[in-house]
Amino acid sequence: MSAAMKTYDVVIVGGGVVGSASAHYLRKNGFTGSIALVEKDTSWARGCTALSVGGLRLQFSTPENIHLSKFGVTLVKNLKQEFGPDADIGFKEQGYLICASPEGLPVLEENHTVQIANGADNVLLRGQELASRFPWLVTDGIAAGCFGLSGEGWVDPYMFAALFRKSAIAKGVELIQDEVTGVTREGQRITGVTLASGEAIACGTLVNAAGTGAGRLAELAGIYVGRGLTPALAEQVAIQLTAHDALGAHARDELGLSHMTRARPLQAALSSAAAFAVGAALPLLLVVFLPLGGLSTIVIAASLALLMGLGALAGYLGGASMVRGAARVAFWGAAAMGATALVGRLFGTVV
Ligand SMILES: Cc1cc2nc3c(=O)[nH]c(=O)nc-3n(C[C@H](O)[C@H](O)[C@H](O)COP(=O)(O)OP(=O)(O)OC[C@H]3O[C@@H](n4cnc5c(N)ncnc54)[C@H](O)[C@@H]3O)c2cc1C
Repeated sequence: MSAAMKTYDVVIVGGGVVGSASAHYLRKNGFTGSIALVEKDTSWARGCTALSVGGLRLQFSTPENIHLSKFGVTLVKNLKQEFGPDADIGFKEQGYLICASPEGLPVLEENHTVQIANGADNVLLRGQELASRFPWLVTDGIAAGCFGLSGEGWVDPYMFAALFRKSAIAKGVELIQDEVTGVTREGQRITGVTLASGEAIACGTLVNAAGTGAGRLAELAGIYVGRGLTPALAEQVAIQLTAHDALGAHARDELGLSHMTRARPLQAALSSAAAFAVGAALPLLLVVFLPLGGLSTIVIAASLALLMGLGALAGYLGGASMVRGAARVAFWGAAAMGATALVGRLFGTVV
């Protein structure tokens, strides 16, 4: 890496709630090294954080998830101590009500037991208890509902992420408005990133908080490793291709769709129209130039031969199989001639 290249101890990709909270907690926990937070969309409008409902609940089925949420609830309830007197994310503490049918009741009861054992504050309500607490609820078919008495509700997620970000920036985290388009590695270690602007930055540690984009890149990187590229090169290829044309890269490399395998309907239609026009003209020329004796047999044989040739040509121009094109056009041509002859025979006329 060049001497002029900027270097950070930590580079965090993505400034949604996960990336911004990572930056905030690194500082809060005493990390004094340099940190860059790289975000491509500083309107912060399109990430999951902005689009989320902001629901906060303790009703999960595993202790790990319950404890993660309890950490969040404690923070939300002590927001002003963490971020200052003006901090407000509009927390509405109003419990979730998760209902179960008779079939689902054992799962609800089991989860409730795990939740209570791990410090959640909720209650199982059945029958009249449920109906009188929620008079607007149609309780037909509901065996029970688990209701959060405290520690559940919703917040404004956009404001939540903004608080983390503001705090991190105030503590010296550098916000870089750019898109990460490449990752550089030395062996198994990530040593830096390249940005859409062309700049490259070195890092001691990379935090991938890119939200929904992170998985896609990893997926593509896996495909290229499977094709024999080194992991480092595979990741570079995946990132560059996704940045250039994400949909095309996935269609081509994951689903096997490319311009070689794609149908070309316009060419097929034009080839077909040309084939039929030429196919009709050539037998007419035979009629003009050949003597009348045995004419119909010659015209039928010549027409079929011409149809096969034109079918093959249409297949070639449309990017399909020439043999199948020849067979298909000859078959339907013969069928049409047969039908025409049949009509002539039935009505005693020449069509
Ligand atoms: C409709 C909806 C409802 C939801 N409801 C809830 C809910 O009620 N409760 C709950 O807890 N969770 C909910 N979630 C989930 C929650 O929103 C996410 O788990 C959380 O916001 C993820 O945060 P994040 O920081 O990982 O991702 P994001 O907020 O998406 O942030 C990722 C950031 O990375 C940036 N980025 C991506 N790639 C690059 C790159 N190459 N270079 C630079 N920047 C990049 C993006 O621009 C983006 O700002 C909901 C999600 C959605 C979509």
